[in-house]
Amino acid sequence: MGQRVIIAWLITCALGYFALGRSLARLVEGYDRSSESLLPILLTAAAIVTSLILTFRWARALRSGTTNTQPTGRRRFLLGALGAGGGLAATLLATFSRISDWYAISGRHIFLVRPPYKADQQLDEWSGARVREYRRLGRTEARISDISLGSGSGTGGRQTAEVAREAIDRGINYFDTAPDYSGANSENRLGQAMKGVREQMFLATKFCRPTGHLGPGNSVQEYIEAVEGSLERLQTDWVDLIHIHSCDSIERLMDENAHEAFDRLKEAGKVRFLGVSTHTPNLEAVANHAIESNRFDVMMLAYHHGAWPGLEDIVQRAAQADIGVVAMKTLRGAMHQGLMSSRADRESYTQAAFKWVLSNPAVSGLVISLWESAQLDEFLSASGEAPTAEDMACLQRYEELAAAKHCRPHCGACLGQCPEELAIHDILRYKMYFEHYGAQKEAMRLYSELEKKADSCIACSAPCTNACPYGIPIAQSTREAHALLEIA
Ligand code: SF4
Ligand code: SF4
Repeated sequence: MGQRVIIAWLITCALGYFALGRSLARLVEGYDRSSESLLPILLTAAAIVTSLILTFRWARALRSGTTNTQPTGRRRFLLGALGAGGGLAATLLATFSRISDWYAISGRHIFLVRPPYKADQQLDEWSGARVREYRRLGRTEARISDISLGSGSGTGGRQTAEVAREAIDRGINYFDTAPDYSGANSENRLGQAMKGVREQMFLATKFCRPTGHLGPGNSVQEYIEAVEGSLERLQTDWVDLIHIHSCDSIERLMDENAHEAFDRLKEAGKVRFLGVSTHTPNLEAVANHAIESNRFDVMMLAYHHGAWPGLEDIVQRAAQADIGVVAMKTLRGAMHQGLMSSRADRESYTQAAFKWVLSNPAVSGLVISLWESAQLDEFLSASGEAPTAEDMACLQRYEELAAAKHCRPHCGACLGQCPEELAIHDILRYKMYFEHYGAQKEAMRLYSELEKKADSCIACSAPCTNACPYGIPIAQSTREAHALLEIA
């Protein structure tokens, strides 16, 4: 009998490690729960119940070795409880040991460190800040808040309807969302926030589903249904702007089904303007084609201090064509809290970066992902302000510190050097979300969706060494990214 109990618990421990532990690992990594089988959980639960029954039956049948008499009922119960407790503890240990390597590297970021995406100390003068400037959004003729609400990966799913409503109360009238931000939660929450004030908002979302981007291969009807899904989640009859989302190729930019869907939706009064958002290695080609095509009313571009000169040219030409330009990724990696040793710099950096972006009159506004009232205080304090000499000096110090750490969103200079054809820029972007945006779960979810992961870097001879013109140690960074973003 005792042997059967031991074997039962050994099997249970093995299931804990191989079945339940693997499910746990995938859960932490951010895999879509709806696609995960319940079988490993059910099998492990069944094994635990069986082992518990066998353990208590063994205890009940116990006899004293010397007198062949039964121990007292209390003693038998205690022995059974001890055996059951030991078995359960061993099973839990086996299950959690599956993610122990990951915890040593990444878990501490999640459970111990809260990477700040806001100043570590809020200044009194920021309190209650409001939007102070509205700018014309190109040919749409809308006037939008110069600092507006984004709801992308940077929020890590923490943005609530309440904080979005507070943003409206503080004068923000432009919301940027997408069906795949926080697994549709962004659209749901912004829909709640806009109840009763929809008319005063300029609402931008993306041609996309909660499960990912649309592109060539999707039918006109699929594009239309995706937008109708957005309208439902946003609790509105129309969106002002629909972007071709995170556009990485001219083929996607000009997909005729997307354009026909837009025309039909516009005719039906469900969308008003067409836009394109891009922050990929093909940004330059995509943006140039978008300007020349004259099909787009708005462009949302990764634009920050220290941007390469070609981007300035694109922004100018877009403005000349009366295309509204919205800036995103304005904090150049948002590494200030970790990089800058001076508290004054850490407190000034965000506002200095915003002021720099808005000092370009060709920019209509910027979007920033936020999730706390205190961030509204801090961020909106830069509204309507021009950068000072101190701001420029702060940005200069940041640029020196971040130079060999920040993978430029528009770059792709190293991609041809990787025999594995890894999307190095995406891998490093997700690493940035994890380490600097505090959006660990979202970063892991995005990484889990990549076709090729950086495990191939572990044994690679790294022909990518020296491929980055900015001095980023690519192989080291991608290996670190893999250790952070995927459980061994
Ligand atoms: S180390 Fe990684 S990124 Fe560099 S070449 Fe090898 S596989 Fe590609
Ligand atoms: S690692 Fe360097 S070369 Fe590669 S995409 Fe990033 S910035 Fe460009």
